[in-house]
Amino acid sequence: MSIVSRDAKAPTILVAWRGKSLIDEATIRVVVHCLKEGSKSRKTGKMVQVLICNDDVYPHDAVKTGADFSVCGNCPLRPTNGGGCYCNLGKHYPRVWETSNELVADLEAACVAIRASGLPVRIGSWGDPSAVPFDVISTLVNAARGDDGRARHTAYTNAWATCDQRLREVAMASVLSEAEKVMAERAGWATLRVRTADMPVLQGEVVCPASKEAGHRTTCSNCLMCCGTGRGKGTHVVIQTHGSANKVNRLHRLIEEPES
Ligand code: SF4
Ligand code: SF4
Repeated sequence: MSIVSRDAKAPTILVAWRGKSLIDEATIRVVVHCLKEGSKSRKTGKMVQVLICNDDVYPHDAVKTGADFSVCGNCPLRPTNGGGCYCNLGKHYPRVWETSNELVADLEAACVAIRASGLPVRIGSWGDPSAVPFDVISTLVNAARGDDGRARHTAYTNAWATCDQRLREVAMASVLSEAEKVMAERAGWATLRVRTADMPVLQGEVVCPASKEAGHRTTCSNCLMCCGTGRGKGTHVVIQTHGSANKVNRLHRLIEEPES
């Protein structure tokens, strides 16, 4: 891992890429943020965040109107699909969106800033990496690698069945059932499965060590298991439903009745 002293004048937000969504060709952007200190989330720990958002639609409007399709595809957790999204837009992401509105996209500058931060990267603080060309995602992921070449990022996609399949090298397939987990695994993906408390952990699955059920033993920034298959087999991770009561109820419905 690089030990880098953080420059007080270093940017906190940069646009890494702006272009047509692979999902519906609307203009979207990839914003790298939390570049100085990393995120403050208890579960993820300190990580540089990568937001994948509509370029010309305010994030809260995007989720209300369904324009988030351009960056989330047909994810069952979108508010217009019934909700349950793990990411909370809150006030922070809209601020990041506003701040980055006028910034010119510069992938190389984003990579330099990621390297200088010395922090691991979370791809998809909101939005799905399947909306973005794989070369852009892999360039960001490579910028975060340690000096030993090891992955230092996390990434997830709900669109594992239909997206550019190279994404499995760097992202987990987010799955909501045992059957979906088996299908994704057969297609060569490492999986992150969400389960209810009464569902078993399957053979070969590892309980997320940052989860409540594992005693919050670590953070994503230390663990970094959710980085796809890389050159190897990848790890299958499982976590219990968590979050607000509404979110948990929605996730339970989706897990128990996938078409709901
Ligand atoms: S989980 Fe990801 S892809 Fe699904 S709605 Fe939330 S941000 Fe979008
Ligand atoms: S397994 Fe590790 S990287 Fe994945 S969600 Fe849990 S703590 Fe984060």
